[in-house]
Amino acid sequence: MADAATLRAHFQASLAESDPEVAEAIGGELDRQRDQIELIASENLVSRAVLEAHGSVMTNKTVEGYPGKRYYGGAQFADRIEALGIARAKKLFGCGFANIQPHSGSQANQAVFLALLKPGDTILSMSTNAGGHISHGHPANQTGKHYAIVSYGVAKSDERLDYAEAEALALKHKPRLVIAGGSAYPRRIDFPRLRAIADKAGALFMVDMAHFAGLVATGLHPNPFPHAHIVTTTTYKSLRGARGGVVLTNDAALAKKIDNAVFPGVQGSVLLHAVAGKTVCLGEALKPAFRDYCQAVVDNAQALAKAVAGEGLRVVSGGTDTGLMLVDLTAKGVQGQRASESLEAAGLNVNKNTIPFDPRTPEDPSGLRLSSNAGTARGLGADEFGQIGRWIGRVLDGLARRPNDNGAAEHEVRAEVQAMCRRFPIYG
Ligand SMILES: *Cc1c(COP(=O)(O)O)cnc(C)c1O
Repeated sequence: MADAATLRAHFQASLAESDPEVAEAIGGELDRQRDQIELIASENLVSRAVLEAHGSVMTNKTVEGYPGKRYYGGAQFADRIEALGIARAKKLFGCGFANIQPHSGSQANQAVFLALLKPGDTILSMSTNAGGHISHGHPANQTGKHYAIVSYGVAKSDERLDYAEAEALALKHKPRLVIAGGSAYPRRIDFPRLRAIADKAGALFMVDMAHFAGLVATGLHPNPFPHAHIVTTTTYKSLRGARGGVVLTNDAALAKKIDNAVFPGVQGSVLLHAVAGKTVCLGEALKPAFRDYCQAVVDNAQALAKAVAGEGLRVVSGGTDTGLMLVDLTAKGVQGQRASESLEAAGLNVNKNTIPFDPRTPEDPSGLRLSSNAGTARGLGADEFGQIGRWIGRVLDGLARRPNDNGAAEHEVRAEVQAMCRRFPIYG
């Protein structure tokens, strides 16, 4: 057995003292986040309060089950936090039931499928080529292996969800579940219309609102309720919170099935530190300041879309209704892979993305996906997002001229990006 001094050191030593390698990498990540402008849509910057909850001693506690019905003792504080988070989620989205245990968005969706479907049942969802999410039925995902997947896309004419196609497929294939929502679809979705289609086909209707949950929470986007039977979301994108997923419903019978599907169906014990972080972020989202943040996300996305269009880039579907947009690089004669590398070298973090009807491969697609979520969280406004759009144009023009060496443009823009980052510091 270790002596008292060794034990004390075990509990008291800082990360830097006990594991300098990991501490250095985390420090590097902090510097990276401080010095770059994050435009990746699946990310955001959490508050210090969320960080504290997420990095707290809640990680030491193991519980299974739900508040008031745990298998292990000593759960009073775990119960208090999770019950608070559930109440906040219900209030925020105006629904009767919430499960805040899913470890991620994919686990939330998996639990819904386990609750509602049998292997071999048919799901109708948006194709990943048109912006759908992998967990909705991609062949490489378990959904694609366990269920029969039918996918709708967007119309060629306006690059908006093709409701006529969705309806025809629903009537032909009679899915058990219709899913709306994706990871690269920038437009509002007509929930009543898809619900009517689901009803006609005898299907349940689920909305995965990961990319616009914050806007729903603040009334800046239509609420999927009461149209959806089930709503899922992640908490770390538009909700600006801790990593994880949530499942919501208004139907008591479905809620019971979902609780059983989350635990013991697809998960075991609860990541209580993540539940604590989620609960804090749900509390933040109920405050008026979060509405101001979400309004700024929308305004900034408009400013960014306008600026990149001004640089001669085509914005897919002509714009965005959320914080997210897709940009077609074809006019500049550059491709997604090199474009995202060169922008990262310039301090602008984006991800390459397929665009609808993309003639290129997902490994090197024709587009980029941009988001105003994280930049807005650090205080950037419409002027800054206009500037970011012009920087993107400058880097891509440099790349078009010198495909193999865009160092000069990257270097110039990088210096200006860093100056902007210093004006909007994060984590004090
Ligand atoms: C990000 C995302 C998910 C998955 O989330 P993970 O936490 O990565 O599992 C699910 N659905 C949609 C629409 C998403 O955008």
